[in-house]
Amino acid sequence: MKSVVNKVAVLGCGISGAVCASVLARNGVSVTVFESGRGPGGRMSQRRETTEDGKELFFDHGAPFFNVSDNNVMNLVHEWEARGLVAEWKETFRSFDCISCKFVDTEKDGSGKKYVGVPGMNSICRAMCHEAGVEAKFGITVGRLEWLDDINSWSLISLDGQNLGHFDGVVASDKNAVSPRFTGVTRRPPPLDLSLFPELALKLQDVPVHSCFALMLAFSEPLTSIPVKGISFRNSEVLSWAFCDSSKPGRSATSECWVLHSTAAYAKAVIRETGLQKPSNEALTKVVEELFEEFQNTGLDIPQPFFMKAHRWRLALHPCDSPLKHAQTSPCMPSIFKEG
Ligand SMILES: Cc1cc2nc3c(=O)[nH]c(=O)nc-3n(C[C@H](O)[C@H](O)[C@H](O)COP(=O)(O)OP(=O)(O)OC[C@H]3O[C@@H](n4cnc5c(N)ncnc54)[C@H](O)[C@@H]3O)c2cc1C
Repeated sequence: MKSVVNKVAVLGCGISGAVCASVLARNGVSVTVFESGRGPGGRMSQRRETTEDGKELFFDHGAPFFNVSDNNVMNLVHEWEARGLVAEWKETFRSFDCISCKFVDTEKDGSGKKYVGVPGMNSICRAMCHEAGVEAKFGITVGRLEWLDDINSWSLISLDGQNLGHFDGVVASDKNAVSPRFTGVTRRPPPLDLSLFPELALKLQDVPVHSCFALMLAFSEPLTSIPVKGISFRNSEVLSWAFCDSSKPGRSATSECWVLHSTAAYAKAVIRETGLQKPSNEALTKVVEELFEEFQNTGLDIPQPFFMKAHRWRLALHPCDSPLKHAQTSPCMPSIFKEG
């Protein structure tokens, strides 16, 4: 690696890649972000859907919100708040027991402020990748990273063989860059060969990540039978959480949008049956039916939504960040920006 790094490629425009790109650019580095997806956000994305009659709906179908326990990160979040990129979501959450069909717990005081991106969870990533010194390229999957000794640079090649240029340094924000899972989906070797660093390769492989299905629902009227805007489910094999997206600050109030999350065990069982490839419409329709049925089985008087769609997150979250882990005690705060 050169002692002075002027030009860096960042793989991935999720929160890690976007913040990293912004910090590098503020320190005078010229940064190019490559993102496989059509837009910024990664697992902090916002999904836009259009109904048959032309109504636009927006869902935070990935991470629903975040809280912060680290002071340095808090300073960053205050800066984002001042720029109007994030706002506090001041709603109370409760646990719901699916056996007794009753709410059993209220969020404890001091469990942390909940923050959301405004107008969507992807707002932070979108802003970071438009900062001076950052160029973001979407719809490009980096397929190969090669160190060229003769010119002291990294060469990047896209999955479809396009030359993406030479860089002094590379930041891979997604462990997919070295993961055999990349091969499972693309049938190609992962972009970065870590054979010279077997210990690191093993450590990365060992980072466990749970899968999750998200069900996006839109209702024409507010769900008045539900007294809160976030629910963690206990004793359900199917549902782990439900969030009312339209109660977040800066969202359109024309429809009542909710996002339900499946349990990791449910997602694992479905993926075992359907495989790693993109799920078929038939498989997703079954997921829609099963998650919605469980929601209705709560007895919370859930009307028929005018829009329902499921999304599979094959790699959603680390088990330690999973609300599931805490669901038996009290609703927990997602901790995307936690210490350490
Ligand atoms: C439904 C759901 C619920 C969640 N709930 C919680 C929670 O309660 N608490 C919590 O702490 N966390 C939660 N998370 C996890 C949280 O969203 C993630 O930990 C966080 O957003 C990860 O950010 P990241 O930038 O590290 O990765 P990502 O957001 O995954 O970004 C990585 C990006 O890299 C791109 N990429 C990968 N390989 C390449 C390549 N070769 N070339 C180009 N681009 C590439 C990907 O397309 C992706 O956009 C949840 C996630 C989901 C999906």
